[in-house]
Amino acid sequence: MNQTLFITASDTGVGKTHITANLLKLLLKHHANARAIKPIETGFDYSNIDTLGVPVGSDVHSYSLVNPANVFAPAYYFDVPASPHYSARLAGSEVNIDVLESYCREHIEQAPVTLIEGAGGLLVPFNQLQQQKSHNFTHLIKRLNCPIILVINNQLGAINQALVNIQLCEFHGIDIACVVMNQTDPNSQLALENIAFVQSQTNVPVVQLNKDADFEAFERAFETVLSTRKLGILPSKDCNNDNSDNSWAKAEPTEIDGLAEKLTFDKNHIWHPYTSMTEPLTAYHVSYAEGKHIYIDNEQGANHKLLDAMSSWWAVNLGYNRDELNHTAVRQINQFSHVMFGGLTHDPAVELGKTLIDMMPNSEPDKKLAHVFYTDSGSVSVEVAIKMALQYQQVVSPSKRKILTPMGGYHGDTFGAMSVCDPVNGMHGLFKGMLAEQVFIPRPDCYYDALRKNQPFDPDCLLPVNQALAEHKNEIAGIIIEPIVQGAGGMRFYHPEYLRHLRQICDEHDIVLIFDEIATGFGRTGEMFASTFASKVVGADVTPDIICLGKALTGGFMSFACTIASRRIAEGISQNGNPFMHGPTYMGNPLACAVAKTALDTLQVNGWQTNVKNIEAWLIEGLAPCRDLPDVADVRVLGAIGVVELVKPVDVQKIQAYFISQGVWIRPFGKLVYTMPHFNFNKADIEQICGAIYGAIERGEY
Ligand code: PMP
Repeated sequence: MNQTLFITASDTGVGKTHITANLLKLLLKHHANARAIKPIETGFDYSNIDTLGVPVGSDVHSYSLVNPANVFAPAYYFDVPASPHYSARLAGSEVNIDVLESYCREHIEQAPVTLIEGAGGLLVPFNQLQQQKSHNFTHLIKRLNCPIILVINNQLGAINQALVNIQLCEFHGIDIACVVMNQTDPNSQLALENIAFVQSQTNVPVVQLNKDADFEAFERAFETVLSTRKLGILPSKDCNNDNSDNSWAKAEPTEIDGLAEKLTFDKNHIWHPYTSMTEPLTAYHVSYAEGKHIYIDNEQGANHKLLDAMSSWWAVNLGYNRDELNHTAVRQINQFSHVMFGGLTHDPAVELGKTLIDMMPNSEPDKKLAHVFYTDSGSVSVEVAIKMALQYQQVVSPSKRKILTPMGGYHGDTFGAMSVCDPVNGMHGLFKGMLAEQVFIPRPDCYYDALRKNQPFDPDCLLPVNQALAEHKNEIAGIIIEPIVQGAGGMRFYHPEYLRHLRQICDEHDIVLIFDEIATGFGRTGEMFASTFASKVVGADVTPDIICLGKALTGGFMSFACTIASRRIAEGISQNGNPFMHGPTYMGNPLACAVAKTALDTLQVNGWQTNVKNIEAWLIEGLAPCRDLPDVADVRVLGAIGVVELVKPVDVQKIQAYFISQGVWIRPFGKLVYTMPHFNFNKADIEQICGAIYGAIERGEY
């Protein structure tokens, strides 16, 4: 596999270019086609160009002096010597990280070893993005997933410069191949002390490079570092290693072998969702995820970039690896990542609680959702909601001990949650006799989606609800339902009027209405919550008594969920000081609360509402051609959810291989090929996803 090394420094003018050029010279002794590139160069002076048209004195010119064949124009070059974001702006241009990434990848593919020289230090900005952290070299390095050489000027202040940059790399998960203490004066005690101290603080090798070091000295300084097995750029010199025979082939990185081993271990020992241990489906190895993309490694090589059309099961609504969330997490980890919630509280729990309650619909004080119970997963938040409904009724109406729910629902995999999942598609058969017996009614028979919003509501679909109520009125403690979108139980949408009716019934009979908004919450349908969506459509308040939230609560950063109850329910349960009987170990985990708070703040300033509207329109347009394909039973779209239902179940393994070949990540289930794009996808992204879905079905790749 081709090797890449990124050369960066604590500052500009530290000697990166000299080191890159000498490294190129060193590598060329072993790899005929090693190359050095510079993705962005500012300060290109065209007043003095050489015969090849390269500005004399530029960094790329230094490489060509080492190897006249090494003349590769940067992806971006500007004449003003300044930070790329500024030089680009002065040139009326803008640096795009995707272009930089493709530029680097093209070179990496063509050369056995590629040296990539940065411009200035790690946080030098490429651009100035609206409402978002701007991209910088850390983003590019993480996308390329390659180790770096960090060059520090060994003068007064070098210790701080080195440690700041090392910490930054640790924070970002960037591997440092070595720290180079450049321009070292071998007669200076201070300079030698700097090296010793930096080395004592890090496990990575610290290379001493003396002032005026000639090439031989340079070679000696770098040989050991570049020949470590981990890096494998130069032939291994490690004679103590059992496998070492110094041959070139052995020195090649073992990355791909390592991958096979990891995948075999995974296959033999690690359960994946809904899979057999003896005949598991393929699991792909993820090396990195950022923004819209997941990077996977497979037999064809490392770092295949896939456009993520699944939002990791409704969770990652604003993309992977967001700086805001990473920073919050690191900050909180460095305060305290966890303390028990019994008898203790903390800012993250309080701040998140306030934000959540502010986001809840403005119902009458008694009905306002204002009492938050934090849990570790969606399923547990459903358990808590059911328990709340039952505990409430034990005080108010003790005969009521069952939950009513429509068929086709999905609420999680724990026992209480399973008991209210669809009794046919769910796991009722498997766990017969062990699940609580609940009251089921047929699924809401009132089709709805973005295209059929104006279709009249047929009140007959309420008959089963009324009938079940007439029969079980004194038994039903609560109704649980996924508002508008029945997700994992079949990806079906139904009319908001249905919910208004449920709200009325629950008010009339003092039944606790629970909305499971674990999937629909935080913008997926086009409104912040599906209940808000329903209230708008029907022109009445259809807020539930209890809401379950999860998935996108942390922007897909980590598992976390909550159950929020109205005052009426909370006070009912708590009459005479009664406790609510639930209290998991990791309840109110500060790390999760802090990340969730930042995720919600980020969502609220993100302009997601317009984006989701656009995505809905693009999905309608992009998936429409699927309707004409023979095996397609239905195509439906609502908000940022697009579904193509086929007449028969798909071969997941086969269709997924096709999607990967098309550069997208889509994981169908049963007869459903569906997408839940991130909210910041653009038209081209949606076209790519829809094109892949159409292509898979049209070519029979399923
Ligand atoms: N309810 C709904 C509507 C869901 O979609 C899910 C997850 N697919 C759950 C509950 C369960 O959440 P978790 O997987 O976090 O336990």
